[in-house]
Amino acid sequence: MMPIILLTQGDINGIGTEIILKSFPKLLRLKARLCAVGSLREFQHQSKHLNLPVSFVRIESLSELEHVPSSTLPVLDISHKAKTHFGNIRADAGDLAMIAIERAATLCLEKQADALVTAPIHKEAIAKAGWKFEGHTDFLAHLSNKNVQMMLVDERSKLRVALATVHVPLAKVSERLTAQSIEEKVRMLHDALKQEFGIPTPRIAVLGLNPHASDGGIIGNEEETMLKPTLKRLKRKFHLEGIFAADGFFGAKMYQHYDAVLAMYHDQGLIPFKMLAFETGVNVTLGLPFVRTSPDHGTAFDIAGKGIAHDTSFISATKLALKLVQARKQAKMEREVTLT
Ligand SMILES: [Zn+2]
Repeated sequence: MMPIILLTQGDINGIGTEIILKSFPKLLRLKARLCAVGSLREFQHQSKHLNLPVSFVRIESLSELEHVPSSTLPVLDISHKAKTHFGNIRADAGDLAMIAIERAATLCLEKQADALVTAPIHKEAIAKAGWKFEGHTDFLAHLSNKNVQMMLVDERSKLRVALATVHVPLAKVSERLTAQSIEEKVRMLHDALKQEFGIPTPRIAVLGLNPHASDGGIIGNEEETMLKPTLKRLKRKFHLEGIFAADGFFGAKMYQHYDAVLAMYHDQGLIPFKMLAFETGVNVTLGLPFVRTSPDHGTAFDIAGKGIAHDTSFISATKLALKLVQARKQAKMEREVTLT
């Protein structure tokens, strides 16, 4: 049986529905069953409005998928009152988006589906609807009761970036970086590369915090006091290299020699990533019991409903989801072989 990949609609007032409608015909040869989760009425409405003809079928359970011809997009319908108002932050759209994610994630947790590819949602819209989550990552962590970590992946430039701190004000980054937090991040990253990406001995590069990784303690001291001793200890267990000065590391394309890079803060890792992978980058959530990827862009309310959104990142996200489903299966089989 082919793996089942669920595509959540995202905020209907952004570009999510459009990129799913654009991607679907281009993904027909993918060796997976794709199934959208969201409001069928709004899929049909936007398909007409944007002149992106797709044939739909409403399904109620994933067992119906086997009867759906591959050129038809099955939609697991969330009947919801929300209607499209392009470019507007609305509670009803936020609510629909979250219900679709919850439904899709539950199916993955029940092992009825293998992977989740999520179209973008809007933080303010979900807050307006009363959902107490920042976004996909913390909602999925909550639903599956796991610690998760985000990683950005660009297959084309061979760059994978994870962050030691994510949405933390720059003034607070230093105090958030502790021996314990670094060890946790390294361990999770290592385990995920092994079990979720099927890399037997992952090579991880660790960046410094300060300019020139502090030049031996002249420009700041987090490297000398915390990072160096922590890495020295961790290097006994993991294949780690560093501390690297971030600018030279990216400048000399040294990331090509590693399976992943651990950056110390948001912009240190994401600026080089987005410059290298603007339309092909994919966001992957590590640590979940199922595969989850998403395109590396937001709801783009400014261009919603115009038909000009690019589907490249969503297509990359869907293709990577399938690769990760296969890598997990392979890694699991190998673990079982070693155990017996
Ligand atoms: Zn961010």
